[in-house]
Amino acid sequence: MMDIGFDYDDTLVEHAVPFYEIVGELLGRKLVIGKQWLYPHFKKDERELTDQLWRFNWYMNGCTRPKVYTKETLAYLKSEGHKVHIITARHHSLKEQTKEAIDRFFPGIVSSVSFIDGPEKVAHLKQMNIRIWVDDNPHTCADAYVSGIRTIVIDKPYNRNLTPSIERVYIPSELHIRLMETIHAEKRERQRRKIREKDSKVV
Ligand SMILES: [Mg+2]
Repeated sequence: MMDIGFDYDDTLVEHAVPFYEIVGELLGRKLVIGKQWLYPHFKKDERELTDQLWRFNWYMNGCTRPKVYTKETLAYLKSEGHKVHIITARHHSLKEQTKEAIDRFFPGIVSSVSFIDGPEKVAHLKQMNIRIWVDDNPHTCADAYVSGIRTIVIDKPYNRNLTPSIERVYIPSELHIRLMETIHAEKRERQRRKIREKDSKVV
Protein backbone atom coordinates (compact mmCIF):
# COMPACT_ATOMS: atom_id res chain seq x y z
CA MET A 1 0.00 0.00 0.00
CA MET A 2 1.28 3.45 -0.93
CA ASP A 3 0.33 6.84 0.46
CA ILE A 4 -0.05 9.16 -2.50
CA GLY A 5 -0.35 12.92 -1.96
CA PHE A 6 -2.01 15.53 -4.15
CA ASP A 7 -2.10 19.27 -4.04
CA TYR A 8 -5.65 20.56 -4.61
CA ASP A 9 -5.91 23.79 -6.67
CA ASP A 10 -4.68 23.48 -10.25
CA THR A 11 -3.72 19.87 -9.59
CA LEU A 12 -7.03 18.08 -8.93
CA VAL A 13 -9.38 21.00 -9.50
CA GLU A 14 -9.51 24.13 -11.62
CA HIS A 15 -11.63 27.26 -11.71
CA ALA A 16 -14.46 27.50 -14.20
CA VAL A 17 -13.55 31.18 -14.69
CA PRO A 18 -9.83 32.04 -14.29
CA PHE A 19 -9.17 34.59 -11.53
CA TYR A 20 -7.45 37.00 -13.94
CA GLU A 21 -10.62 37.26 -15.99
CA ILE A 22 -12.69 38.24 -12.94
CA VAL A 23 -10.05 40.64 -11.58
CA GLY A 24 -9.54 42.13 -15.03
CA GLU A 25 -13.25 42.64 -15.50
CA LEU A 26 -13.62 44.32 -12.09
CA LEU A 27 -10.72 46.67 -12.83
CA GLY A 28 -11.73 47.26 -16.43
CA ARG A 29 -8.43 46.11 -17.96
CA LYS A 30 -6.86 42.96 -19.28
CA LEU A 31 -4.41 41.32 -16.89
CA VAL A 32 -1.12 40.13 -18.30
CA ILE A 33 -0.33 36.62 -17.07
CA GLY A 34 3.40 36.10 -16.89
CA LYS A 35 5.49 33.02 -16.37
CA GLN A 36 6.41 33.66 -12.77
CA TRP A 37 4.82 32.06 -9.76
CA LEU A 38 2.37 34.40 -7.97
CA TYR A 39 2.68 36.97 -10.78
CA PRO A 40 5.13 39.49 -9.23
CA HIS A 41 4.56 41.91 -12.12
CA PHE A 42 0.94 42.52 -11.05
CA LYS A 43 0.07 46.08 -10.10
CA LYS A 44 -0.86 46.77 -6.46
CA ASP A 45 -4.62 46.86 -7.07
CA GLU A 46 -4.46 43.73 -9.23
CA ARG A 47 -2.61 41.88 -6.48
CA GLU A 48 -4.96 43.05 -3.74
CA LEU A 49 -8.05 42.00 -5.64
CA THR A 50 -6.49 38.64 -6.50
CA ASP A 51 -5.63 38.02 -2.84
CA GLN A 52 -9.20 38.86 -1.85
CA LEU A 53 -10.59 36.53 -4.47
CA TRP A 54 -8.45 33.64 -3.14
CA ARG A 55 -10.23 33.95 0.19
CA PHE A 56 -13.76 34.06 -1.13
CA ASN A 57 -15.73 30.89 -0.79
CA TRP A 58 -17.87 31.62 -3.84
CA TYR A 59 -14.77 31.73 -6.01
CA MET A 60 -12.60 29.06 -4.40
CA ASN A 61 -15.43 26.55 -4.03
CA GLY A 62 -18.40 27.81 -6.02
CA CYS A 63 -16.28 28.29 -9.14
CA THR A 64 -14.16 25.15 -8.65
CA ARG A 65 -14.62 21.99 -10.66
CA PRO A 66 -12.60 18.77 -10.80
CA LYS A 67 -10.26 18.51 -13.76
CA VAL A 68 -11.14 15.83 -16.27
CA TYR A 69 -9.90 12.37 -15.31
CA THR A 70 -9.03 13.27 -11.71
CA LYS A 71 -11.98 11.42 -10.17
CA GLU A 72 -11.15 8.32 -12.23
CA THR A 73 -7.47 8.56 -11.27
CA LEU A 74 -8.14 8.85 -7.53
CA ALA A 75 -10.81 6.11 -7.64
CA TYR A 76 -8.38 3.83 -9.47
CA LEU A 77 -5.67 4.36 -6.81
CA LYS A 78 -8.14 3.56 -4.06
CA SER A 79 -9.44 0.46 -5.85
CA GLU A 80 -5.84 -0.80 -6.01
CA GLY A 81 -5.56 -0.47 -2.21
CA HIS A 82 -3.59 2.79 -2.03
CA LYS A 83 -4.36 5.82 0.09
CA VAL A 84 -5.12 9.22 -1.45
CA HIS A 85 -4.26 12.31 0.61
CA ILE A 86 -4.95 15.94 -0.28
CA ILE A 87 -2.58 18.54 1.19
CA THR A 88 -3.53 22.09 0.29
CA ALA A 89 -2.21 25.56 1.10
CA ARG A 90 -5.72 26.99 1.01
CA HIS A 91 -6.64 29.54 3.65
CA HIS A 92 -8.08 28.12 6.87
CA SER A 93 -11.27 30.12 6.43
CA LEU A 94 -12.11 27.86 3.47
CA LYS A 95 -11.58 24.64 5.41
CA GLU A 96 -15.14 23.41 5.93
CA GLN A 97 -16.38 24.32 2.46
CA THR A 98 -13.31 22.79 0.83
CA LYS A 99 -13.79 19.51 2.71
CA GLU A 100 -17.44 19.50 1.68
CA ALA A 101 -16.45 20.09 -1.98
CA ILE A 102 -13.88 17.26 -1.84
CA ASP A 103 -16.57 14.89 -0.51
CA ARG A 104 -18.82 15.95 -3.35
CA PHE A 105 -16.19 15.72 -6.13
CA PHE A 106 -14.44 12.56 -4.91
CA PRO A 107 -16.98 10.75 -2.68
CA GLY A 108 -15.52 8.09 -0.40
CA ILE A 109 -12.12 8.20 -2.12
CA VAL A 110 -9.91 10.58 -0.12
CA SER A 111 -8.30 9.31 3.11
CA SER A 112 -7.22 12.68 4.54
CA VAL A 113 -7.29 16.42 3.83
CA SER A 114 -4.69 18.74 5.41
CA PHE A 115 -4.35 22.53 5.25
CA ILE A 116 -0.64 23.33 5.34
CA ASP A 117 1.24 26.16 3.70
CA GLY A 118 4.78 26.91 2.63
CA PRO A 119 7.92 24.99 3.57
CA GLU A 120 6.04 23.02 6.25
CA LYS A 121 4.23 21.19 3.49
CA VAL A 122 7.19 18.95 2.67
CA ALA A 123 7.88 18.16 6.35
CA HIS A 124 4.25 17.09 6.52
CA LEU A 125 4.61 14.89 3.42
CA LYS A 126 7.59 13.17 5.07
CA GLN A 127 5.68 12.70 8.28
CA MET A 128 2.80 11.14 6.37
CA ASN A 129 5.19 8.88 4.50
CA ILE A 130 3.98 10.16 1.12
CA ARG A 131 5.63 8.09 -1.62
CA ILE A 132 4.40 10.10 -4.61
CA TRP A 133 3.61 13.82 -4.55
CA VAL A 134 1.65 15.55 -7.34
CA ASP A 135 1.59 19.37 -7.44
CA ASP A 136 1.81 22.48 -9.65
CA ASN A 137 3.63 24.73 -7.12
CA PRO A 138 7.27 25.04 -8.25
CA HIS A 139 8.62 25.62 -4.72
CA THR A 140 6.88 22.67 -3.11
CA CYS A 141 7.77 20.42 -6.05
CA ALA A 142 11.47 21.39 -5.80
CA ASP A 143 11.49 20.85 -2.00
CA ALA A 144 9.71 17.50 -2.23
CA TYR A 145 12.04 16.31 -4.99
CA VAL A 146 15.18 17.35 -3.08
CA SER A 147 13.96 15.59 0.04
CA GLY A 148 13.72 12.34 -1.91
CA ILE A 149 9.96 12.08 -2.50
CA ARG A 150 8.99 11.00 -6.00
CA THR A 151 7.45 14.16 -7.40
CA ILE A 152 5.24 14.69 -10.43
CA VAL A 153 4.72 18.28 -11.55
CA ILE A 154 1.58 19.38 -13.39
CA ASP A 155 2.89 21.51 -16.25
CA LYS A 156 2.13 25.24 -15.93
CA PRO A 157 3.97 28.26 -17.39
CA TYR A 158 5.15 29.28 -13.90
CA ASN A 159 6.83 25.95 -13.11
CA ARG A 160 8.78 25.40 -16.34
CA ASN A 161 12.05 26.58 -14.81
CA LEU A 162 12.14 23.51 -12.54
CA THR A 163 14.88 20.98 -13.19
CA PRO A 164 13.92 18.57 -15.99
CA SER A 165 14.80 15.66 -13.69
CA ILE A 166 11.44 16.22 -12.00
CA GLU A 167 8.76 14.21 -13.79
CA ARG A 168 6.27 16.40 -15.63
CA VAL A 169 2.81 15.69 -17.01
CA TYR A 170 1.10 17.88 -19.57
CA ILE A 171 -2.46 16.56 -19.67
CA PRO A 172 -4.55 14.87 -16.96
CA SER A 173 -4.78 11.53 -18.78
CA GLU A 174 -0.99 11.43 -18.74
CA LEU A 175 -1.01 11.56 -14.95
CA HIS A 176 -3.51 8.70 -14.90
CA ILE A 177 -1.30 6.57 -17.14
CA ARG A 178 1.87 7.45 -15.21
CA LEU A 179 0.34 6.36 -11.90
CA MET A 180 -1.20 3.25 -13.48
CA GLU A 181 2.22 2.24 -14.83
CA THR A 182 3.79 2.74 -11.39
CA ILE A 183 1.18 0.55 -9.75
CA HIS A 184 1.51 -2.17 -12.39
CA ALA A 185 5.29 -2.13 -12.00
CA GLU A 186 4.93 -2.45 -8.22
CA LYS A 187 2.54 -5.37 -8.66
CA ARG A 188 4.90 -7.14 -11.06
CA GLU A 189 7.79 -6.63 -8.66
CA ARG A 190 5.74 -8.12 -5.81
CA GLN A 191 4.85 -11.14 -7.96
CA ARG A 192 8.49 -11.60 -8.99
CA ARG A 193 9.56 -11.50 -5.36
CA LYS A 194 6.96 -14.13 -4.48
CA ILE A 195 8.15 -16.41 -7.29
CA ARG A 196 11.79 -15.95 -6.27
CA GLU A 197 10.91 -16.83 -2.65
CA LYS A 198 9.03 -19.93 -3.82
CA ASP A 199 11.95 -20.94 -6.07
CA SER A 200 14.48 -20.54 -3.29
CA LYS A 201 12.41 -22.88 -1.13
CA VAL A 202 12.29 -25.52 -3.91
CA VAL A 203 16.08 -25.34 -4.37
MG1 LIG B 1 -1.77 24.11 -6.65
